Amino acid sequence: MKEFDFIDRFLRPLATDSAALGLGDDAAVLDTGCGSLVAAKDMLIEGVHFRADDPPAAIAKKALRVNLSDIAAMGARPRGYLLGCAWGGAWRDSDLEAFAAGLAEDQAEFGLALLGGDTTAHDGATVVSVTMIGEAADGAFLSRGGALAGDDLYASGTLGDGWLGLQALARGRDFGGLSDAERDHVIDRYRLPQPRIALARALCGVAHAAIDISDGLIADAGHVARRSNCGLEIALDATLLSDAARKWAGAGAEKENNLLMLAQGGDDYELLFTAPPEKRDAVAAAARSSGVSVTRIGRAFRGAGVRVLNASGEILETAIGGYEHMTPGGA
Ligand code: ADP
Ligand code: MG
Repeated sequence: MKEFDFIDRFLRPLATDSAALGLGDDAAVLDTGCGSLVAAKDMLIEGVHFRADDPPAAIAKKALRVNLSDIAAMGARPRGYLLGCAWGGAWRDSDLEAFAAGLAEDQAEFGLALLGGDTTAHDGATVVSVTMIGEAADGAFLSRGGALAGDDLYASGTLGDGWLGLQALARGRDFGGLSDAERDHVIDRYRLPQPRIALARALCGVAHAAIDISDGLIADAGHVARRSNCGLEIALDATLLSDAARKWAGAGAEKENNLLMLAQGGDDYELLFTAPPEKRDAVAAAARSSGVSVTRIGRAFRGAGVRVLNASGEILETAIGGYEHMTPGGA
C-alpha cells in the first residue's frame, strides 16, 4: 500500500475532529477558545531523510526545520516541540552532545523551547521524531484549500537545490560539473532547510492557499490543487534557480528535462502559495519585509490537476508523483 492510500483509507476516518483539517493540510489547528494552537509532526529516518555521515548538529536542525516549515506553511508562529529519539547503533556521547548543541542553536534562532519527548534505543536505523507546536495569531491561518481560479501561483526562494544537494552527496565530488562553492551551497540547502516563517506570516490575509514544498514542487502543487478544487498551471521556465542549479540544468532540450527533474525533487522547504492578482503589491511587500525572494511561477485555473508548461508554453508530460513513502504491494 502507498503512503497516501494508507492515510486516505485507514487514517482519515479517524480524524473526526475539525482541528485535523481532514488530514489534508500541513498541520492541525486546534481552537483553544483564546487563539489557535497549530501542531505538526515529521520524522527523520537515517538512510531516508538524512545520511549516517551527516553531522549530528545538522540532523538535529533538520528535524526541527522540516517541522518549522509545516508550521510556517500555516502562517503560524512556532512555540515549542516534543522530541522523540530512537537511537540506532553508532552514536557516541560526543555525537549526542553535538546533536543537543544543534537543537540549542536552532531554539535560539527560532525562539523555541523543548517541551518533552521520549528516548529509546534499538538495533536499527536512528529515527528522530519532532512534534512542533505553534500558534496562529487571532486564529488566522493559511491552508492548502483556499486557492481560487484566477489566482497567481508563487514560490519562495530557489527550486531544486535540496534535491541537487542530495545528489551531490550521493554521487561524490565531481557531480554535475559544480564548483566547490556551488556543491557546498546545494548540500547546505539539503541539510539545512530555511523555514519561511516570516514570509508566511506576512502572507496571512494576502495569500489564498499555501503549502511548503517537501515532496517536490509538482507533487505539492497537486496537493493544493486537490484541496482547493482547482487546477494549477506552472511555467517551468519562470521558476527561480540558484547559480548551481542553473549550471546543472544546462541549456536547450536538456534544460527542459532537467528543470522537470528539479520540479519533481523534494527537500526544498520553500513556500508555494496562491494570491489574487490584485494582491501583487502586497505579495511583493511580504517578500521585502521578510527578506525572502518570491517568484510568480503560474496561476490557478478552473479545472483540476497540475499542468506544467515549457518555455514555449507547451504542456509537458509529467509523472505527477513526488516522493512517496511506503511501496505498492501487499495484500
Ligand atoms: P507534510 O509533507 O506537510 O508533512 P504529509 O504529506 O507527510 O504532509 O502528510 C499529509 C497529511 O497526512 C498531513 O495532514 C499529515 O498530518 C497526515 N498524516 C500523515 N501520516 C499520518 C499519520 N501516521 N497519522 C495521522 N496523520 C498523518
Ligand atoms: Mg508540509
